[in-house]
Amino acid sequence: MEATIDGRKGMSINWEGSAITRPRMVVKPERVSELIEIIKNEKKYPAPVRAVGFQHSITRCAVADGGTIIDMGNFNRILEFGQRHVRVQAGVRIYDLVKALDARGLQLCACPEFGDISAGSVACTSNRYISSRGILGQISSTVVAMKLVIPQGTKLNVTAKQPDMLNVMRSSFGLLGIVYEVTFAVREKIGFVVKRWQMDLDDLSLAMAGLNGDGIGVRLTVYPFSNKAQLETRHSVKLETATRQWKPTLRVWGWNCLVPLVAQLFKRLVPSSGLRGKQLDILLFRAQKMFTRLLQDRIVEMSAVCLPRCRMPKWGRCTYTTWAFPADDFSLLIEKYVAFCLQYKRDHGFRCDLPTKALFVPKDPASLLSYAADGDVFTLDVFSSGGKGWEDFLIDLNQFCSANGGVPLLNQTKHLSQRQAVRGLGRKLVTFKRLRRNVDRHNRLSSTFYQPLVG
Ligand SMILES: Cc1cc2nc3c(=O)[nH]c(=O)nc-3n(C[C@H](O)[C@H](O)[C@H](O)COP(=O)(O)OP(=O)(O)OC[C@H]3O[C@@H](n4cnc5c(N)ncnc54)[C@H](O)[C@@H]3O)c2cc1C
Repeated sequence: MEATIDGRKGMSINWEGSAITRPRMVVKPERVSELIEIIKNEKKYPAPVRAVGFQHSITRCAVADGGTIIDMGNFNRILEFGQRHVRVQAGVRIYDLVKALDARGLQLCACPEFGDISAGSVACTSNRYISSRGILGQISSTVVAMKLVIPQGTKLNVTAKQPDMLNVMRSSFGLLGIVYEVTFAVREKIGFVVKRWQMDLDDLSLAMAGLNGDGIGVRLTVYPFSNKAQLETRHSVKLETATRQWKPTLRVWGWNCLVPLVAQLFKRLVPSSGLRGKQLDILLFRAQKMFTRLLQDRIVEMSAVCLPRCRMPKWGRCTYTTWAFPADDFSLLIEKYVAFCLQYKRDHGFRCDLPTKALFVPKDPASLLSYAADGDVFTLDVFSSGGKGWEDFLIDLNQFCSANGGVPLLNQTKHLSQRQAVRGLGRKLVTFKRLRRNVDRHNRLSSTFYQPLVG
């Protein structure tokens, strides 16, 4: 097992560089027996003990100040392919898994677009992806078995025969055990047909009312400062013949890599935030409209929209935060959100310089702390190039979201307070807290990030 002691220098831990942590130990085990040794040997491997995958979380959920970070990078093997499942080690990159399944005519039952994430992390944390018939909005909900090393230093094998336990483990955030193996449900490959409309925000509620649910995936892009929106729907279809897939790949690449870079360049070239704000909104909306027209595709395959990390300089990256809201009144929520953004800009001079996205996630009670446990939701994914004013904005945004019935994603909602977490997740959070205390009496796995939220 490789071990690095790096207590003094500090270590940047997340993708956007916003979470710095100073662990006493960073270890990269190769075997489960080594994981057990790490958990058991409290002296050598101090708490908190945190497993990490690709460190691509945008919150501080993977920090372990003064503790031990377990890099799961050596647990990188796909162990077994079945017609209905795939069994992998926890450090396997989802992008590699998607490609390997694709080559066998199979796919995951969720559709991640950012592939540089580990199987272990997505199996036990909250995530949100565009759904459609046969495709869920959370990868964790597609987990049918999981193997962990629990805080007592013993192995635990959770299978579909223990649905309650699986339900808890799918949102355990590394607090009830270190995941070392995951089995995902898989299915035969399907494609999806995408339709897109651009409109004024005033017409959004009518357009959304016209969507007749049942298996349709929806993604919304909102431009609060130019009063525009794009509505995208997705229908699952059978794959008859192979089609060329460069257009959807290019579109996803453009959105994830080029758009943040343009926003950052704009920030440097046009220092006046007032002028930059409106112009950038208009520019991005027009670019999205043009791309939609130029890059029309007939049937899209999942493997075409799952991309690895793009090699952009750190300064060209964006950041975001996420909340979920009941789907019923979501167009009303968008109206309030736009008013909130305009008011915040007037009061504080800050505005997010990237459009906000929203994804429809159908009711999903597969995990205890699922943000969609009680019904269909839309996630509100607020993007920005960050910088001065962003962190303060998040405090007010959280108050707005919490006051309007928002449910947080514990690992993806930035600067969340305990009150907001309890308000959003209610009794389920209390149940989880009790369980966590029983399972991890000596707080081996709890960290300064999760402690205030889940006790
Ligand atoms: C450019 C970009 C785009 C993104 N797009 C999306 C998106 O569309 N949808 C979405 O939902 N998210 C998205 N994310 C967020 C990201 O995908 C998730 O946060 C994901 O969980 C990160 O995976 P990771 O392997 O890097 O996990 P890490 O950041 O390393 O860890 C995440 C959490 O999981 C825990 N953990 C990791 N491995 C284990 C293990 N083996 N056992 C127990 N606990 C473990 C960690 O301690 C930490 O709390 C995006 C992030 C970036 C940077």
